[in-house]
Amino acid sequence: KQEIRQRHSRIAEELFPAEQLKLYIDGKWQESLSEQTLSTCNPTTGDVLALVQAGTAVDIDRAVEAAWDAYDEDWSTYSAADRQAVLTEIADRVEARSEDFARIETLDNGKPITEARNDIDLVIDHFRYFAGVARVSGGKTVPSNRSSHIETLQEPYGVVGQIIPWNFPLLMAAWKLAPALAAGNAVVLKPAEETPLSILELMREIDDVLPDGVVNVVTGYGPEAGGPLVSHSDVPKIAFTGSTEVGYGVMKNAATTITDVTLELGGKSPVIVHSDADVEKAVDISIQAMFFNGGECCCAGTRLFVHEDIEDEFIDEFVTAVEQLEIGDPLDEETDVGPQVSPAEVDKTRQYIKSLSTTDVRILTGGERAVGERLSDGCFVTPTVISGIDHDERIAQEEIFGPVELVFTWDAYDEMITKANDVDYGLAAGVITSDLQKAYDTARDIEAGDIWVNTYNQFPAGQPFGGYKQSGIGREIGAETIENYTQTKTINFNLE
Ligand code: NAD
Repeated sequence: KQEIRQRHSRIAEELFPAEQLKLYIDGKWQESLSEQTLSTCNPTTGDVLALVQAGTAVDIDRAVEAAWDAYDEDWSTYSAADRQAVLTEIADRVEARSEDFARIETLDNGKPITEARNDIDLVIDHFRYFAGVARVSGGKTVPSNRSSHIETLQEPYGVVGQIIPWNFPLLMAAWKLAPALAAGNAVVLKPAEETPLSILELMREIDDVLPDGVVNVVTGYGPEAGGPLVSHSDVPKIAFTGSTEVGYGVMKNAATTITDVTLELGGKSPVIVHSDADVEKAVDISIQAMFFNGGECCCAGTRLFVHEDIEDEFIDEFVTAVEQLEIGDPLDEETDVGPQVSPAEVDKTRQYIKSLSTTDVRILTGGERAVGERLSDGCFVTPTVISGIDHDERIAQEEIFGPVELVFTWDAYDEMITKANDVDYGLAAGVITSDLQKAYDTARDIEAGDIWVNTYNQFPAGQPFGGYKQSGIGREIGAETIENYTQTKTINFNLE
């Protein structure tokens, strides 16, 4: 424990110089007018990692004003080629310090360093991709007779507000910032209170790349800093990623000013294993679907539907593989599952496990807070697999956001599909089979925005991502995301 603590605090001291942990408004590091701070904890050790500003409505006002000034006076004069150059430079800067960013993410969020590196690679890819999209997006001409000319322009909103969660801090910031900047907007971004550090470090790194005020970062709690951003009368567009519960409120608030919203919300995604699946591969994919990022993944494959013909073999191998997952210090290269992000998330996960009521329920493995010599006092939950759940139970219907897999078995295809679709969410799904027709049929039958066939959790830039039903409105990552950040203006010329 002592070794882990020392190692983490040594790296933290090296990475977070105190002067940078302020609000980033108008290109300057500023204290919150609230004079309040909040602490972000290291979930591996339970220690306070850093104090950041707890911004409030007055800080949001300042940030929105700075963003409009930057947009009006400077950023709106940048051509698409100029914006492309800026986004490319951001990608280069992140790439040059990718290991630092990965380590910050691991300290602040608790994700294994190998997964954090993967996040940072995706961040770089995302900025590069939207650097290109900035050059190819635009309006169109509408066919008409020779006496008129009709064209459309895609104009930026000017200033957009963005709110992001803690599970992929820098990646979620990249998913938001890259298309918004490519479209020509200035931004006010509110990071999650649990994980603001990588985003503050990004601003420190790219301070000289962007004109002052083009990106403003206001750290703070949801209702105090996020709330005023959503209902701000000078912010015509909000992009929110977070829980469906908070998403309801964001949409309601946005309605008070007729603000356009994009919502990327929660999930309860099924993974469907057909009888002809190669069991070993199916186990690998299902493990990756569920336990990637410690289950703190909006699209986690939390409901596993295994065909009865391979039930015994599959479950046996699956449980063995789960028990072999290396839980521990996320800075260790061999760690598969790090801590959950906070004590609150640990409690929430444990409450779901404790709430199980049916007598048929079997906890096949896990269910306990992981303890042991290798672990410090952090937020660890043992990867858990449960079977025998009634699909109507809360645990099968609600998003847990921890490493808890529910296993169901099936025989009749239609019944299984009905059950797989019987949740309020529709973010993602996995299909595992060696039969192309079955794969395609299941992909078409599932009500979800993203279907992975014989793979899971792939997020290459360019591939649209987003939810059906209460998992959200709009798509991110694909080229069309830029449309989330523009409005269409039609110009009709009378040429006579
Ligand atoms: P959360 O909803 O608690 O918080 C998300 C963000 O919203 C944070 O920055 C928070 O401070 C802010 N917030 C909270 N209350 C607010 C309010 N009243 N007004 C404005 N902002 C407010 O979610 P979380 O716990 O940080 O993240 C986990 C959730 O995010 C999960 O539900 C997960 O599925 C979802 N998620 C979705 C996607 C996706 O692309 N669909 C991606 C990642 C995470």
